[in-house]
Amino acid sequence: MEVLGFDLVYLLVTVGLAVVFTLAVLTIIGILLVRHFDKTGVALFPRLFMFILNLVETPIKNLLWLFNLDAKTLFLVRSNLINAIYRHRFAAVPVKERAIFLPQCLRNQKCPANTDEEGLHCKGCGKCEIADYKKEAEKLGYKFFIAPGGTMVKRMIKKYRPKAIIGVGCENEIQMGSEMAIRHGIIPMTIPLAKSGCVNTIVDWDEVRRITNLTPQNVND
Ligand code: SF4
Repeated sequence: MEVLGFDLVYLLVTVGLAVVFTLAVLTIIGILLVRHFDKTGVALFPRLFMFILNLVETPIKNLLWLFNLDAKTLFLVRSNLINAIYRHRFAAVPVKERAIFLPQCLRNQKCPANTDEEGLHCKGCGKCEIADYKKEAEKLGYKFFIAPGGTMVKRMIKKYRPKAIIGVGCENEIQMGSEMAIRHGIIPMTIPLAKSGCVNTIVDWDEVRRITNLTPQNVND
C-alpha cells in the first residue's frame, strides 16, 4: 500500500526510527544538562531543559546511575528550573497577593503552636527560626502558613486565592504543590528542604529570604 507515493511500511519504519532517534538525542542532552547542574548548580536553558524533562524524564532517570547521580538530583533540577522559569513573573506579583507555606517539620520539637484549619499558629517562642521569618514575611505583606499537609495548602489557596506562592518542602510536597499551583494559574517558587524527614528538618533560610524578597527591582541581581 502506498501513501503519497511512499510505501506505507517504509514510511512507518522511517517515522518510528526518527522518533526513537530524536528521543535518544533529547535523553542524552537531558542527562548532560542534569550532570552540568550537579557540577555547577546552574540549570542551563531552563525552558528547553524543562521541555526535555517533561518529554523524557523516565529514560533520563533510568540512566542517571551512569554518572553516579540519583533521582534526588533530578528533583533539585526541577525545583531549580521552576524558579528560573517563574522568577520574573513571581517578582512582578505584589507581595500582598503572595502566600508562603512552610512545612510543620521545620519547627522545634517542643513547639507550643496551636493548630486550626489554617495550619499551625507560631507563638513566636523563638525555639526555631520560624518566629523571626514569620515576622519578616508578614511585615512585607505575605499570607503566612505553617502547613501540616497538602490538604490544608489546597484549602488556603481556595480561600485566599494568592497569585503567587512560595512552597518549602520535601520532594513530594514540592512536586505536588508546584504542579497544583501551575494547574490553577498560580505562580510557584520552590525551596527544597536541605534535610527532609518528619522532624528536625533543615532549610536554607538565606535562600528562603532571597526568594521572599524578590521584587522587579532586584530580580536580576
Ligand atoms: S518559633 Fe514558632 S514555630 Fe518555632 S517552635 Fe516557637 S512557636 Fe513553634
